[in-house]
This record gives sequence, C-alpha cells and structure tokens, in this order.
Amino acid sequence: MDARRRIPATDRVLDDPVLAGAVERLGRDVVRAVVHDAQRRARHGQLDPERVIAAAREALPASAGGMRRVVNACGVLLHTNLGRAPLSDAAVEAVRAAAGTTDVELDLTTGRRGPRGRGVRAALTEAVPAAEAAHVVNNGAAALSLVATALAAGREIVLARGELVEIGDGFRIPDLLTSTGARLREVGTTNRVRFEDYRDAIGPDTGFVLKVHPSNFRITGFTSQVPVAALRELPVPVIADIGSGLLRAHPALPDEPDAQRTLAAGADLVTASGDKLLGGPQAGLLLGSAELVRRLERHPLARALRVDKLTLAALEATVRGPATPTAQALDRGEADLLDRARRLAASLRERGIDADARTSTATVGGGGAPGVELPSAAVTLPSRYAAALRTGRTPVLARVEHGQCLLDLCAVAPADDAVLLDAVTAVG
Ligand SMILES: *Cc1c(COP(=O)(O)O)cnc(C)c1O
Repeated sequence: MDARRRIPATDRVLDDPVLAGAVERLGRDVVRAVVHDAQRRARHGQLDPERVIAAAREALPASAGGMRRVVNACGVLLHTNLGRAPLSDAAVEAVRAAAGTTDVELDLTTGRRGPRGRGVRAALTEAVPAAEAAHVVNNGAAALSLVATALAAGREIVLARGELVEIGDGFRIPDLLTSTGARLREVGTTNRVRFEDYRDAIGPDTGFVLKVHPSNFRITGFTSQVPVAALRELPVPVIADIGSGLLRAHPALPDEPDAQRTLAAGADLVTASGDKLLGGPQAGLLLGSAELVRRLERHPLARALRVDKLTLAALEATVRGPATPTAQALDRGEADLLDRARRLAASLRERGIDADARTSTATVGGGGAPGVELPSAAVTLPSRYAAALRTGRTPVLARVEHGQCLLDLCAVAPADDAVLLDAVTAVG
C-alpha cells in the first residue's frame, strides 16, 4: 500500500491521550500545527507514517508561546539577545502570583483605589537610602525619555560630548533625548570636559545637566570627566544615567556606578535599567528627589510608560528577595567554575565526545561594566558543535574562539550542568 495512505488523519492523531491533554494546556492551534508538521514529514517520506503520533508528542512545545528557553553558555552574563538577566525563582513566583487578579491598585483595608507600585517603590527606597522616592517605567530608555520630556522639553539638556552614547542596535541616547523636544547643549570635547564647560553652558533655558555612563566603551589616555560631586554645585538639577542598575556598590565591579553612591554624591535623580546588573525584569528605574519624582509621576507621558503588574511583582521580588542569578554569577569563583568544567568534560569524554576544560574570560555585556573581565572556565568542544547546540532540542548558545566551541560556565547555574551534558550528548 502507498505509504501516504497509512498517514493517520488529524482527528485520529488528536485522539491520542497525550496530544489531547496538550490541547487543554497549549490550545488546539498549537497542537494542530505540531501534528500537521509530522504528517507533512511523513508525506515527504522523512518520517515513517507509524511514527506520526510519537513524533508529534516529541515535538510538543513546553508552552503555547513561541519563545524558547536557551542555555546561556556564551560567556556574556547579560546578553541583550537572550533577554538580559534571568529572573530569580523568587521573582518568577511573584509573577505567577500576580498573574491573576491582584491588589495592584486597590487598598484592601479601605476597599478604595490604592497607589500603584507602592511595594516596589518602598523596596527601592529601602535598598537605596539616598533615594527619597522612586518611580518605575518600561525600560532605561523610557526613564530618560520621561525625564527629558518632563524637565527639559523646549529647553536644553547640558551634557558632555564624550557621553553622547550609542547603546546598541542603533539606539542613540542623543536621538532619544532630542525626540522629546529637548535641545542638547554639548560641552567639552570627545575626551575631555571640565567643570567650567558645564558652568558656562548653564542659563535660563537649562532644564538639567545629564551625565551618561558610557556603558559599552571606554576612553582611555588623555581624558577628564567631571564627577557628580562637582556638578552638584550647579544651580540646576543633575541627572545621572547609570544604565547598569546596580543599587549598591559591588566588590567585583569597583568602577561601576551605583544608585546609592551617585545620589549620595549629589545627583538629584538616577536613571537605570532593571534587567542589567540588578538582575530583574525589563524596567526603567528613576530614583532620587521626592519633588522631581512627583513631577515625573504626574506628567501625562508617565501613563504611556507605566509597567504592568507582572513587572512590578518581579521587580519587587528581585529587590527584596535572595541573590539573583546575576548576582550569583558575579560571585562565582574561577576555581569552582574550572572544577565544574572538568567534571563536565570528563563525563562527555566517557560518552566518546572530544571535550576538555580550560579557564576563560567572560564579560558582563548588556551595557554594563565596560572592559570588566570576569574570570571564568569553559568546556571546549570541536567548533562544529556551536551550530548544532544552537539548533538542538534544548538550544545552547556557545562561543566560538580560536576555532573551538566554548561552553562558558559563568552564566550557567550549577543546576543546569546536567542540561548542558544532555544537550551536548544529544547532538554529539
Ligand atoms: C542600557 C542603557 C540604557 C538603555 O536602557 P534600556 O533598559 O535598554 O532601555 C540607557 N543608558 C545607559 C547608560 C545604558 O547602559
């Protein structure tokens, strides 16, 4: 009989208890698409018709969403293309709890409307004592956009020429600032700026002075910048975009600015991202003067930039909760990482795979800590593994260096070593 006639009909395939259960969980369209794909492969002779149900079962996605989990073994801790910081278990739990109906904007004691985001704002001002108030928006760019619109639309923002930064994917901070209707007043040269440059540029049209952390590059050599502590002498607000989202100083990143020290040094407001070194969800943090934060919150644009309950929940749990995966990664010792790499390489060799272990250098990435090298360790494999791992059943993003495929363990939780082992074995 023609093999095609043996391909089971869709309704019959969907009678399979596993696939029928998946319809409840994932929805009919998702399961149908998986079934149709298996039937198509059988029609093209790529699959035994008897295996259609089994193949459909195997191809069922973990969730109805199309995004897939990827193991980050590329040695860039906060990779923007991988969604930057992974959430802590505490944050994931908080998201799950907030996903239904919640008291996000309801005061349960009075039964009246309550202030939105009160929990996360309290968590942020407790974590950063120098901040009188806090406001949360959609991302770091939104935080800058709100500040520029509310405090400088139709007026001037004074900033150093060396801080006109392009962050990534063509996103330029100066373009964002001018799109709000503010004008830029650049001071100094690419490599040097002095206090007097700022002072002479200040006038009745000045909205604020902005300092931008050059988060993905460094200018070295004959340079000078003006610290926030000096700029505070100026008769206008000083806003610092620290980017990285560190709330307090971190010993592994001594040169990275943090909100507490920047505000204590005299900045009126700090803007930062939630999903970089803070290790939380995508969000933009605005911390500092109560008066300025109130002006931002009351600006009509604030409504367009506000975050949803899931972000509020994840961010509060990130700030209050246990060490985030990002913080844990920063604390991992090179010796421990090398130990793990050796154990993994030994297990892979037992399975006949040409693996070895070596020390490696990881980076922070995602616009944080430029030039900071994180001592790390990696499993090395032949280079052809890189593409195979990326397109495997559990995708793994590795790094290719000197003709080798490196699985850098810096950003891999120890609990995921087994996942890595299985992924490599599966494509080996
Ligand atoms: C990352 C970054 C931004 C943009 O923040 P997003 O959260 O990506 O919108 C702005 N400024 C600096 C200094 C940054 O590092």
